[in-house]
Amino acid sequence: MVSLKEKILLGIYEEFETWAQQEKTICKKGCTVCCTQNVTMAAVEGDLIHRHIRENDTMEWFAEKLQKKGNTQRPEMTTNGFAAACLQGEDVESGSYGNASTCPFLENDNCSIYSVRPFSCRCFVSEETCIPGMPAVIPESHLSASTAVMQIIEHLGQGEYWGNMLDVLLALSDLPENRKYNEFLPASLPDQGRTHLVKALPLPGFLLLEEEMETVDPLLQKIFAYKVGEKSIEDILNNR
Ligand code: SF4
Ligand code: SF4
Repeated sequence: MVSLKEKILLGIYEEFETWAQQEKTICKKGCTVCCTQNVTMAAVEGDLIHRHIRENDTMEWFAEKLQKKGNTQRPEMTTNGFAAACLQGEDVESGSYGNASTCPFLENDNCSIYSVRPFSCRCFVSEETCIPGMPAVIPESHLSASTAVMQIIEHLGQGEYWGNMLDVLLALSDLPENRKYNEFLPASLPDQGRTHLVKALPLPGFLLLEEEMETVDPLLQKIFAYKVGEKSIEDILNNR
């Protein structure tokens, strides 16, 4: 059964994708420079991916992919950790993302888990052709909106694992519902994934300037008003 958190996550994905349709980017199917192992995500996003794999009975295929760890750069703090430090006036660096190995889920220039790909993949766009090792040219409004949504997703998963996509997926692979991976994954790998992860933090406030807030606010209102069953996401996140 899809959990409440996963339903909220799907609502957030849906509202963001509707909002992002207004953005002019050159992204298109088959353009894959951005598909590297530097993707980060929250555990609830990993739950969604593992569910998809179980439902499609592709655990052996997936276990192979999880063992294709290559070069990656892991952020030292979460998005909300970074936001909290900035809001307290601390001098922090956001970290750099250099060359990383290709994402193992990229097959024939297509994402093999496209319908359940994490938010970091959904929000990554560019106004100019990407060059390996160079940052994408992301529209300012898109960057502001993406950061705010990442903060909400991290808040949703607070207290749970947060970090590199492959590490999170490995960390979740020995949960009882995923026990079939025992046949296909070395027993030490889930712990190896866990050693690189941090805990997701609650939202300390949005990392947005006043003018950015004006641009992003319509999206935030849509997300918070999104109904999951009888309640809005805002009510659920505020325990009302
Ligand atoms: S972000 Fe860059 S590499 Fe990725 S689809 Fe867009 S243009 Fe292509
Ligand atoms: S999960 Fe899919 S969209 Fe994300 S980096 Fe990997 S191949 Fe690309």
